Amino acid sequence: MNSAAPARASLAYCDARGRIFFDERTRPLADGGVVRPPLADELIPAPAGTVEMVLPGRRPLAGDAVAPRASERRNALAVALPAGYTRLLLPAYRADPGAPPLPLFGYTFACELDDRLHVAAARTDEHDDWRPRYFARGELETAIARRRERDPGNAVLAQLAVCAREYGCFTAQNVFLERGEAALPVSPTCNARCLGCISELDADAGIPSPQRRIDFEATAEALARIALAHLERVPDGVVSFGQGCEGEPLLRIAAIERAIERIRGATQAGTVNLNTNGSLPRSLQRAIDAGLQAVRISLNSFRPHAYAAYYRPLGYALEDVLESARIASRAGLRVSLNLLTHPGVTDDEQEVAAANEFLSSVRVDMVQTRTLNVDPQVYFDAVGRPARPLGMRFALDALALRTQLGNFTHTH
Ligand code: SF4
Repeated sequence: MNSAAPARASLAYCDARGRIFFDERTRPLADGGVVRPPLADELIPAPAGTVEMVLPGRRPLAGDAVAPRASERRNALAVALPAGYTRLLLPAYRADPGAPPLPLFGYTFACELDDRLHVAAARTDEHDDWRPRYFARGELETAIARRRERDPGNAVLAQLAVCAREYGCFTAQNVFLERGEAALPVSPTCNARCLGCISELDADAGIPSPQRRIDFEATAEALARIALAHLERVPDGVVSFGQGCEGEPLLRIAAIERAIERIRGATQAGTVNLNTNGSLPRSLQRAIDAGLQAVRISLNSFRPHAYAAYYRPLGYALEDVLESARIASRAGLRVSLNLLTHPGVTDDEQEVAAANEFLSSVRVDMVQTRTLNVDPQVYFDAVGRPARPLGMRFALDALALRTQLGNFTHTH
């Protein structure tokens, strides 16, 4: 349990126009699964790339955690963190009746300290390739046109051009910039229905999904051509099946198998990686047999009920996901877990114990502690609030005792 002192912080809030104000006479409250004051070691100055957001119809909680006050005229403030940081606390607020659902962002607590904005976050990865990107006028368009000229009929390249332009997807841009990790989207369908799916949400979710799910089945040939061209230009690069714009790649294992065989038949350069929900261990074994070298398996929890409440799986369960990690680990792959973290869930005492039990029995090279992008109330309504939250710092430290922490795919 974190025993650090409460922070000497002041409330930061927004007016109706979204302007940010500090109230130095008011102590803010945060939400760590339970509403409480932030602790000194949970706050850092807001890093470059932090995006401030006003939460519509939500009043910030302040004062005493036992009897918190909510100001009618003030709107709650939250921030979205830049890549490389993990959120430690949520904003604490009281929602007005009929307040609209919140879109998919990683709402993070923010307050005033020493006359500047501070956020509840920890730096969990330092990787230059994931810093915010700024392109000169026409620079990205020129790169896209030049690359597509070399393979004009490739439908996957056409999709990646949309992802690079409209969604600002780094791994799609990398295909055109010929650097780092390149995207190979393959599947229009999924066997899960995540509450925070960025490519497809329930019709009644009340919010749009940030991206449009691809609507075609990529061919092994088209995928292999992109991968080979990338690894020719970036010999230590990564080519990754399983991207934000698609469903579950393991549902298209035959195409992935053929693509990997085609790639490895032509070159041994770089790393062939798969980002997956890990739902189909036998299909993963086929990808491994074909030459897969690294896998990143996403999950929000090591507890079956919390996993099922968020992923809403169709025809599989958490045990299949964990079995996929065991298979990949035994086969000597580089294994990363993409842990979708959320205060009050990731640091629940039972969650920390379940994570520790798994990680002490299976070799995992990295746990990526990503901030889960979802409306916190929607998530707590589904997964439940914690019996005993230990604090995200404690949870991250416990994970770090078992494996390397990070935020991005590393090949070594
Ligand atoms: S596993 Fe991925 S594609 Fe499938 S519903 Fe979840 S986030 Fe969406």
